[in-house]
Amino acid sequence: MVSLILTCAGSGTRANFGKNKLFISFGGQTVLYKTLSAFFKSGLIEQYIITVNKSDYETVKNIVGDNAELVIGGATRFDSVKNALPFIKGDIVLVHDGARPFVSPTLIKNCIETAEKFGSAIPVIPSCDTIIKGDGKIVDDYIGKESLYNVQTPQGFKTDLIIPAYEFAKYNNFPDDGSVYKNLYGKLNCFIGDKENVKLTYKEDFEVFNKINDCRVGTGFDCHRLVENRKLIIGGIEIPYPLGLLGHSDADVLTHAVMDAMLSAVAERDIGYHFPDTDERFKGASSIVLLEQVKNIIDKKGYKVQSVSAVIMAQKPKLLGYIPSITDNLAKALGISADKLGIGATTLEGLGFVGREEGICASATAVLIKK
Ligand code: MG
Repeated sequence: MVSLILTCAGSGTRANFGKNKLFISFGGQTVLYKTLSAFFKSGLIEQYIITVNKSDYETVKNIVGDNAELVIGGATRFDSVKNALPFIKGDIVLVHDGARPFVSPTLIKNCIETAEKFGSAIPVIPSCDTIIKGDGKIVDDYIGKESLYNVQTPQGFKTDLIIPAYEFAKYNNFPDDGSVYKNLYGKLNCFIGDKENVKLTYKEDFEVFNKINDCRVGTGFDCHRLVENRKLIIGGIEIPYPLGLLGHSDADVLTHAVMDAMLSAVAERDIGYHFPDTDERFKGASSIVLLEQVKNIIDKKGYKVQSVSAVIMAQKPKLLGYIPSITDNLAKALGISADKLGIGATTLEGLGFVGREEGICASATAVLIKK
């Protein structure tokens, strides 16, 4: 059986929110809830213990309900974990920072397996930055980056080994549980952690993730009439067919729907507004060139295209064989990889003007993210 101690009794003063940073909501959920959910989803933990400040007790109780036992923490992380140890029922215990909500099921599994095998397991990431020692003003010494690792959580232990280590410790300012363990046994096992398992420490850390969560969705639709003596251009590709689409520009129905979806996502009206058909400059214009301008508009708003999904509605010609080249061409124009552009084609079963082969329609959905 595996128990988890989630440390939530810190003051979180470095994040400077004026309240415990674990109660800050991002992506619609508190940090604490997200962290706890990550362990629930893994399905590997059977007992949950959370260390809390007295003043946060009610707030935490409201967030976690009956899913976890709450233990009042102490002055330091060491004291908090020590207070929680008598409540452990599992033969393996993981200790995790409440402010690391991106912990993955794989990392949790690796931690448990390493602790079962060796008695201890701390996740580490090789340091890619050169580390110096100093006070932030004067450099004392270069530590380097060879053989240096950043330490993460969850840290896992056999319960009957970590409890004596905490009892043996003579002071309470150990940086983590691994150091308490090493202090008694001399040896501590580590395994490679996960770079995404970051700790939310400073206000900027939260802003980065809010940015990641800031995505916009837009929809677009277009339709053009099929006529003689016009080229049939779809997604910037010329399709051999006796008829082509009628319009002021090249009447590329798919690219128009995609552009409208992009503009709609950033509340920038539509292509008729930006490229009016009364403007001679856009007569016969390549829609792929106009797409470049739409990209500039969303770029100025601080967004970029993440993915696009579109469907072309045509009774004839059969488009199946052209979808790969349309996808490649449009993805290139959008500046995304082809696996982020899903294009489908359908007939309308002979119904309506599309079914009568009088015109072709397209609809598109675009997902935009903050640059
Ligand atoms: Mg159009």
